[in-house]
This record gives sequence, C-alpha cells and structure tokens, in this order.
Amino acid sequence: MYDVVIIGAGPAGLSAGIYACRGGLKVAIIENKSVGGQAQTAADIQNYPGIKSTSGFDLCYAMMNQCIEFGAEFVFDSIASVSLVGETKTIGLASGNVVEAKNVIIASGANARKLGVPNESKFIGKGVSYCATCDGAFFKGKTVAVIGGGNTAAEDALYLEKLAKKVYMVHRRDALRADDILVKRLEKSGVEIVWNSVVENLDGEDKITQLTLKNIKTDTLTTISVDGVFVAIGQTPNSQGFENVSLSSGGYIITDKNMHTNIDGVYAVGDVREKSLRQVVTACADGAIAANAIVNGI
Ligand code: NAP
Repeated sequence: MYDVVIIGAGPAGLSAGIYACRGGLKVAIIENKSVGGQAQTAADIQNYPGIKSTSGFDLCYAMMNQCIEFGAEFVFDSIASVSLVGETKTIGLASGNVVEAKNVIIASGANARKLGVPNESKFIGKGVSYCATCDGAFFKGKTVAVIGGGNTAAEDALYLEKLAKKVYMVHRRDALRADDILVKRLEKSGVEIVWNSVVENLDGEDKITQLTLKNIKTDTLTTISVDGVFVAIGQTPNSQGFENVSLSSGGYIITDKNMHTNIDGVYAVGDVREKSLRQVVTACADGAIAANAIVNGI
C-alpha cells in the first residue's frame, strides 16, 4: 500500500514525486511511455526560472533522478483500470499487477490534437508529425508546413527553419496566439505565414506531397507542395477513464486550489487540469501543491 500513487511522469508528476518523498511518503509513479511527458520533446526551454536554456529531456531527466534519490518507485506499465472511490484507491495495470494507494495524483497530461482531415491517419509517419523536435531531422533541406498559431506552432516553425529549406506556418486567423517574443522572432525569420487558412486535405500517394488549404475569409482553395506537415493545434487532456472525477467542458479535470478533485484523496496536476497557463513551471507548481496537501493533510 502506497501513500501516494502518481499517474504520469511528466514535470507535474515528477515534481509531486519529489515533494511527496521529501515529505516522508511512500510513493509510486506509474508511466506508460517515457519519463518527461510532452515536455520531454521540447528542444529548447527558455522560460523555466533560473535556467537560461535547457532541453525538455535534460530537465525532466534531472527531475526523474531527484525522484529516485528521494525514494520514489517507478512503474513502467499501462493502466487497465482505476477505482478511486473509497479509502483505498486501486489501479490495475496491463501487466496484471495491481497497485493500491491511500491517495492518487493524476498527472496524465495531454496529447496532441488531431486536424481531423481526410488522410491524416494514413500519413502519420509518412509526412504528418505532431512533434517537430522528434521528427524535424527527417526533413533536412525539405519543405514543411506547421499548422497552428500558438506557442508550440511558433517554436516548431522556428526550430524547423534551422533544418528545412522552406517553412510555412498555416494559421486559421489573422493574428497569432503565440507570445510576443516568439512573434517577433518569427517576423525576423524566413518562415512564411499563411493567414486565415485551414487544412482542407493532405494529398499524396505513399507520402505527403501537397497540402490543400482553404482561405476561410474567401473560401478559396490553394495548394502548396510540402514534404512534411507538423500539426501544432493544441492538446486533448488525458482525462478519460477516471470515473466520477469532475471535468470541465473542455475535458480537463477540475480541482480546487490545493489540486483536490471532487473525490477524497484524488488530486490532479499539470496539463490534465483545468487552468489558465500550461507550462513546465506551472506543472511543477501543481505537483508541489498536491503533494504538500497530502503530506500536511490539507
Ligand atoms: P494553444 O495555445 O491552444 O494553440 C493552439 C493553436 O492552434 C491556436 O493558434 C489555435 O488557433 C490553433 N488551432 C486550434 N484548433 C485548430 C484547428 N482545428 N485547426 C486549425 N488551427 C487550430 O496550443 P499550444 O501552442 O500547443 O500550447 C499549449 C499550451 O502550452 C499553451 O498554454 C502554451 O502557452 C504552452 N506552451 C508554452 C511554451 C513556452 O512558453 N515556451 C511552448 C509551447 C507551449 P486560435 O489561435 O485561432 O485559437
């Protein structure tokens, strides 16, 4: 029986692990992929206070080592079932093992949102990618398009510009959502922004060769030749499967200021939680607050 089981080993889960272990609790962290979550794929994090520039991988790897040093146990397995109601929380794993805990911290993060256009699934790995830092190297000297107008799309476009021959950034409005600093860097870059446009179709035989775009102001269709398309249009929270946990209309888990969900002993932290700012620093803060609430019985 653990004092706390943390579901997800991104920055939020790892931070919760560090604080819970230091608070003297017996902690298990369950992860079904690799440590670091979405942050692990960030090539260059420049807004984590005190660190001028680091890769998401290095930052998360350091957090994982801190967790291990303080005594957290890592369980690499997928979750098959979760029972959160009652004093003992039970988590069934794909391996058949069962983990029991007095408290659960849900730190399951979010996944990249899909465009939802024809051929998208067919071209995954054949031109369509949801992670520029993972797949950018395959497009050295080629032409790519980044879809989206937020911070991820802006960072992806700037990152890909260092590798690709030509980078388009396709955005559905006439203004970017990305932070000003990134907008200024884009303005100085060679990235060509295609405004007021959405992807209508992905064309090609075995691989993507062309993107069909629709200008939403004029309804005009245009095509651009591309070798790759990087989709960066936000995220979908991994909040499914947590029965009885209250969700917002967007599917994010609702918590109070101590990260408590509506269920006793169940907390949610990081990108899966309804909040105004999803960053590594806020994920870490969430994790610390949840662990502290458990340690101190708040
Ligand atoms: P986001 O901020 O939600 O931006 C998503 C972008 O995709 C928006 O521009 C949105 O357009 C567009 N979009 C959404 N659905 C679309 C669709 N179906 N078709 C076409 N375009 C669509 O997502 P994000 O950029 O992934 O960022 C997620 C969070 O992580 C944010 O809080 C962000 O600040 C944070 N983040 C921070 C950093 C950093 O600080 N270094 C880096 C990356 C991410 P509209 O603008 O019209 O809504």
